[in-house]
Amino acid sequence: MPQTTLTFIGTDACIPQSDNDTASFMLNDHALVDCGWNAAITMGECGYTPLDLDYVVLTHCHQDHYLGLAGVLFYVGLREPQGRLTVVGPAEDIERVVGCANAYIGWEYVRSEQSDVEVMGVAPDEVIQIGEFTVKTARTQHPVPGLAYRFEDNRTGKTIGISGDTAYLPALAEHFEGVDMLVYEASYGLTDLEVTPNTDHCSARQSATIAREAGVGRLYLVHSVPEAEAEILAAAREIFPETYWPQPGQRVTV
Ligand SMILES: [Zn+2]
Ligand SMILES: [Zn+2]
Repeated sequence: MPQTTLTFIGTDACIPQSDNDTASFMLNDHALVDCGWNAAITMGECGYTPLDLDYVVLTHCHQDHYLGLAGVLFYVGLREPQGRLTVVGPAEDIERVVGCANAYIGWEYVRSEQSDVEVMGVAPDEVIQIGEFTVKTARTQHPVPGLAYRFEDNRTGKTIGISGDTAYLPALAEHFEGVDMLVYEASYGLTDLEVTPNTDHCSARQSATIAREAGVGRLYLVHSVPEAEAEILAAAREIFPETYWPQPGQRVTV
């Protein structure tokens, strides 16, 4: 029987703790969503290597979500015979970021050909295929173009929502309606900032409100404030009881 799984590669915010990485996730053991500072190495600690990857999917092109991309491309590029990797992300930025990663590697010093990477730029409100997943995108509210992804595993019918970084945006409850597992940022922790166009992130209570309104199965908070884990979980569970704080390396079967 096929299963739908998500493994937390990293769970932290912009500057991760030494034993963690920025929020990033492996879907069905072959699609990496976001690419933290040390993705290639951190994947190893979770039982993977970049050679397992067919896809890297970026929620947005803030540095903490793509810094590890050059390492992943370098690792994959050394593979013989060459594998194929597709990097998916917001259409406005993804070509530039993959181009910069390739330039930084300096493939001309490694071998004659460039890295064999396909780039797929995606817009909000699109439906695309990523391997066995049908994926719907929605616009986030963040200083750079960002996408909230809704993954449906065509084999199992299970659904996973991933917010990326976003301000509190009530419309995302509709996008994530009824997903089995929702992974949401909670960068502001216990601080419920007033909802204005200038906010960039969510508090835990705002994330829990989205989960409740969407009627999801389980909520996992990431990109948050680890020092306040217990208080943040308690606050979120008052709004949405099925809220969890994942650990790096944790593998969840949806
Ligand atoms: Zn971030
Ligand atoms: Zn960001």
